[in-house]
Amino acid sequence: MKICVLPGDGIGPEIIAEAVRVLRALDLDCDLTEALLGGCAVDVTGDPYPEETQRLAQDADAVLLGAVGGPQWDGLPRDQRPERGLLGIRKQLGLFANLRPAIVYPELADASTLKSEVVAGLDLLIVRELTGDIYFGQPRGIETREVDGHRERFGFNTMHYSESEIRRILRVAFEAARRRRGKLCSVDKMNVLETTQLWRDVANETAVDYPDVELSHMLVDNAAMQLVRNPRQFDVIVTGNMFGDILSDEAAQLTGSIGMLPSASLDADGKGLYEPCHGSAPDIAGLGVANPLATILSVAMMLRYTFAREGAALRIENAVEKVLAQGYRTADICQPGTRKVGTRAMGDAVLAAL
Ligand code: NAD
Repeated sequence: MKICVLPGDGIGPEIIAEAVRVLRALDLDCDLTEALLGGCAVDVTGDPYPEETQRLAQDADAVLLGAVGGPQWDGLPRDQRPERGLLGIRKQLGLFANLRPAIVYPELADASTLKSEVVAGLDLLIVRELTGDIYFGQPRGIETREVDGHRERFGFNTMHYSESEIRRILRVAFEAARRRRGKLCSVDKMNVLETTQLWRDVANETAVDYPDVELSHMLVDNAAMQLVRNPRQFDVIVTGNMFGDILSDEAAQLTGSIGMLPSASLDADGKGLYEPCHGSAPDIAGLGVANPLATILSVAMMLRYTFAREGAALRIENAVEKVLAQGYRTADICQPGTRKVGTRAMGDAVLAAL
């Protein structure tokens, strides 16, 4: 297992250190190499995604990333910003499938802004297409044009998907549903957008290969509503880049605990980039209080999706559940009557539970 580790900026190095300790404790045969990405890479090399990092990331089976960015780099030219490094690595590795689970642990149900009886026990997975759709479609731009007899500024973007792009993300989603509760909801806007009519057609065609998975369809406006009305009806949701961008943030907010949410971005061969959903949290960087659980759970996703080590993934997830049941909490999820701990002590608790 060749793993490229990119701690990044802000709290990145602190949370990655705990995730790496957990990974090493499993005693698997892994080869870890650390490299620079984001602001720390700009400081050393002038480039947010330096060549050495590119080489190591391309050579690895999986990439484990902390987070990038911070106010000290906000004033740099666009091509030197830390986020450029993130976009660069996603693009170069061809990561077209983004998997974001939203899980509400029973002990943390009060952290949600929704009533705990609506979200307690929630366990859904959003599979978002990451490299196509209106975010990348050409032509795009802002031009001055003749509109109704006068000239004015005109903005335009193009939504498109090819059949093969749709089929490959659908396959990832069907496979994921097969490993879970066997239910897949495909989200589109087929009543208005031809691109998503094609999406629905291809979803139905692909379903023939997965008779063990129950496929349903939902319009995106209804999906946005159902996610806050009755989110537990979902197992796996699959959708395009733009709808997925919005729905995955909505689903994250259902949990109320951004420090708990892992994510995976996969290529066509199962190589993946694994990272927490949150950013580099510059406001708490260096204080030793960041929640490392999202990053530790990202290691579990890596073992499941890239290395097919379901047993090892479950060991990590069970250990996290156990530390929550034991009452350990970092500041972001702390409630009265629980045991407040810092980043390192939370890592220690997970290791003890393992
Ligand atoms: P953020 O997720 O970093 O922080 C939002 C809030 O959540 C902050 O109050 C922070 O302290 C808290 N928080 C986040 N993760 C936490 C954790 N593990 N434990 C405890 N508290 C946590 O989002 P932001 O403040 O909008 O962005 C900060 C920087 O991160 C920016 O430079 C932004 O560009 C970058 N960013 C990077 C990524 C990424 O690397 N994938 C994603 C989002 C934002």
